[in-house]
Amino acid sequence: ANPIFSNLPTTVFEEMSGLARDLGAINLGQGFPDDPGPEAVRAKAADAVLNGYNQYPPMRGLPDLRRAVAAHYARTQGLDLDWEAEVTITSGATEALTAAFLALIRPGDEVVLFQPLYDSYLPMIRLAGGIPRLVRLAPPHWRFDRAMLEATFSDRTRFVVLNNPINPAGVVFPEEDLALLAEFCARFDATVICDEVWEQVVFGAARHRPLIAFPGMRERTVKIGSAGKMFGLTGWKVGFLCAAPALTHSLARAHQFLTFTTAPNLQAAVAWGLDNSGDWFEAMPRQLEASRDRLAGGLRREGFAVLPSQGTYFLNVDLAASGVAEGDRAFCLRAVHEAGVAAIPVSAFYEVAPVTHIMRLCFAKADAVLDEGVRRLARAR
Ligand code: PMP
Ligand code: GLN
Repeated sequence: ANPIFSNLPTTVFEEMSGLARDLGAINLGQGFPDDPGPEAVRAKAADAVLNGYNQYPPMRGLPDLRRAVAAHYARTQGLDLDWEAEVTITSGATEALTAAFLALIRPGDEVVLFQPLYDSYLPMIRLAGGIPRLVRLAPPHWRFDRAMLEATFSDRTRFVVLNNPINPAGVVFPEEDLALLAEFCARFDATVICDEVWEQVVFGAARHRPLIAFPGMRERTVKIGSAGKMFGLTGWKVGFLCAAPALTHSLARAHQFLTFTTAPNLQAAVAWGLDNSGDWFEAMPRQLEASRDRLAGGLRREGFAVLPSQGTYFLNVDLAASGVAEGDRAFCLRAVHEAGVAAIPVSAFYEVAPVTHIMRLCFAKADAVLDEGVRRLARAR
């Protein structure tokens, strides 16, 4: 077997969800909502299954969806994307990421990434022959600065991978951080693969800024989105790859041999959803923000130290500051086995020098589930 994969454990999300299923625990680990998602969008999918839309769609995606993606980003982020030349539909952001890595990275290229990182990045970059260079972000602010970038970029840097808003940290990077990164990308002539799947899940005063809109970034950014996150339908696996025409041409070469296409019925429903879900995009983050506050408030009342969350489905608990002596993984395993609540140890998002005292909790859950989760975590502590 290929050691890139065979040396890795099952992903922490599957491990913890499996334990939750086997033990009948409350699952505040893997990020998926209790809310069933917008009914009209689901009805469109059912309709599309029953009335055509079941054969191979065009390789780059249904024109209606590519048009809708460009229009959505024009409306919500002021972007000017040419749907024909700059938008490709993939089977989830996961495929979009892999297509970008395989299409663009040449063996020996250095790739700058930020820990904590989403677990598919490193194996697929290594498969492409890329050499990861890691910037280590740490709580409580999880921000990067000029010195960290100076220490990591080099003449061999060809790519950067940025997840913004970042899972699991829950940070929406501010304008000045993105401008700093853009400056380094221009200086080192690097292309950025920007994983923006959480762009629609942003709270309060935080604003998501697409890196592709920064000066000098239009031709050197691959922007990745996910309908699964936009509509809270995480199993749908419909992703968006947006990039300048020359990049898109290369990306499509990899996409055509990874999956070739993506379920056309779901594509049709997502196209309709993007055009008709203004209310959903307003209400969904508000509802999630209330859930965040409910979970954070309950945890604080029980004496847990909760870190701020500006976006994503997740908030983090500082276990050390909460009086928990053991590491995050040990605590999470004990919590699921002894108290019946699953969570994710943030150390799983680091390859080197992990932060080991942070536990990630998913708050996209019904109030009663969050309240019971708090009670059970208090018991584990
Ligand atoms: N990137 C990040 C940062 C994620 O959190 C997720 C979903 N958990 C993905 C990519 C994958 O998205 P999709 O389900 O659309 O493949
Ligand atoms: N993105 C989700 C999370 O971070 C789950 C992804 C997965 O299960 N691969 O929890």
